[in-house]
Amino acid sequence: MIRGMPDLLKRLAMIAGAENVIPGDSPAAADFAHDETLNGPARQPVAIIKPETPDQVTELMALATAAGVPVTARGSGSGLSGAAVPPAGGIVVSFERMNKIVEIDETNHVAVVQPGVTLQELEQKTAEHGLVYPVYPGEMSATIGGNIATNAGGMQAVRYGVTRENVLGLQVVLATGEIIRSGGAIVKSSTGYDLTQLIIGSEGTLALVTEATLRLRTRLPVRATLLAPFNDLDTVTRAVPEILAAGLQPTMLEYVDQLSMAAIIFNTGLELGIPDNVRDAAQAFLIVRLEQRDAERCDADAIDAGLLLERLGAIDVYVLPGEAANSLIQARENAFWSAKKAGAADIIDIVVPRGAMPKFMAAARAIGSEHESIVVGSGHAGDGNVHLAVFQTDEKVLSHVMNELFAAGKRLGGVVSAEHGVGRTKKPYYLELEDPVKIALMRRIKEAFDPAGILNPGAVFDVAESPSPLAAEAAL
Ligand SMILES: Cc1cc2nc3c(=O)[nH]c(=O)nc-3n(C[C@H](O)[C@H](O)[C@H](O)COP(=O)(O)OP(=O)(O)OC[C@H]3O[C@@H](n4cnc5c(N)ncnc54)[C@H](O)[C@@H]3O)c2cc1C
Repeated sequence: MIRGMPDLLKRLAMIAGAENVIPGDSPAAADFAHDETLNGPARQPVAIIKPETPDQVTELMALATAAGVPVTARGSGSGLSGAAVPPAGGIVVSFERMNKIVEIDETNHVAVVQPGVTLQELEQKTAEHGLVYPVYPGEMSATIGGNIATNAGGMQAVRYGVTRENVLGLQVVLATGEIIRSGGAIVKSSTGYDLTQLIIGSEGTLALVTEATLRLRTRLPVRATLLAPFNDLDTVTRAVPEILAAGLQPTMLEYVDQLSMAAIIFNTGLELGIPDNVRDAAQAFLIVRLEQRDAERCDADAIDAGLLLERLGAIDVYVLPGEAANSLIQARENAFWSAKKAGAADIIDIVVPRGAMPKFMAAARAIGSEHESIVVGSGHAGDGNVHLAVFQTDEKVLSHVMNELFAAGKRLGGVVSAEHGVGRTKKPYYLELEDPVKIALMRRIKEAFDPAGILNPGAVFDVAESPSPLAAEAAL
């Protein structure tokens, strides 16, 4: 045990109770050393604390700033960029006990929630009120705190936007222990800087979220899910802007390439419910989900979408019955696990303007074949957001492939990560491509929020060195 640890553990226990503090060398700490990133970093924190109230978070941050100890927030650890992995000598603050849905406000269409509430819990609760929180990343065990910190997106962003468009207000604890509120149950504000938007997507480096006011929508009760196989991926990516231009407002517009679909079918036993010869001929699939207030409107939209998809080159169009449709969406959500099982070395989460997708996919194919690597995937086609699994066992070659993929995306007007975040694993690629003037500005913003540099240092970019005594000792 490193020097100073017994004292630190005692002080953490005084804040949250001894039963809510896990020493870093206990077996129970192992789960907090990693997230779900493929081949991502792993590091055991020196301690884990599970506060129950914003006041306890305030006390924790005041202590951490005074002692210069790094603090990394953790939701469910489902992140895909290593952002919840603590730096050396760091404490993890787990929000699993701050998991209350404080209010569902039917008049203002908002939910007030603590950060440890999971998407699954919120989905169940909002359904009871005929409302929905429409941000739908594949992993329903993820927490609202984690979603806010990563600006999570997911399948329904094509209609409802990402987390950024669906968070109206925050209560956060600053590194100094001060607590502030920004925004609220209001949909407009022209009053000072928008701190809510600055904190969303900051990956736990600016402040700790202790409460969020979320925008809810009316839950549309009728759905139709269309599956359209295509002879090639380019036709799919060219079809996407036209489908959106038609005004059908799909809630999901997802593509899956042939190899990824084969892996999904192999892993999940999914029955697509389409003729074998069509399935085998298809090089790519488009999934279109439509939602409406009543069956008549939904049927009319499904007919229009089907005719449009055929005109845009689909081999055929299948309207899937409810059960099959849900299985397909679930299987698409699990594409990550299929890629992991198949041995993917990394997953990229690049976004380009949707009109640039055909060019990006062509570039990705060329990069893969030049470096003898398999590059396949699926993604949120309506957002120009491509999740590519890269298969390459040589680390040097892998790094070239990754660099070139990100550079190709950047040239087309895209960015390194659409929704998973930069964290620790995408940081080298991000720093390579990002304007240094912007990084310097971000460092100054971080300094203003977090003068001692203790909030998740090393995520997104490196802060100027300000090692904690514990970090320095741990490094010895
Ligand atoms: C199978 C699978 C599919 C996925 N699909 C998608 C997808 O479609 N779209 C998508 O966007 N993501 C997807 N993800 C990634 C992941 O679910 C999201 O990044 C999610 O937002 C992480 O939430 P979490 O609670 O697990 O956060 P964690 O992984 O625990 O943490 C993520 C970040 O949030 C910070 N954080 C957590 N709580 C707080 C808080 N209270 N205050 C400040 N910072 C905090 C952490 O420090 C870290 O930086 C997927 C993951 C898996 C495993």
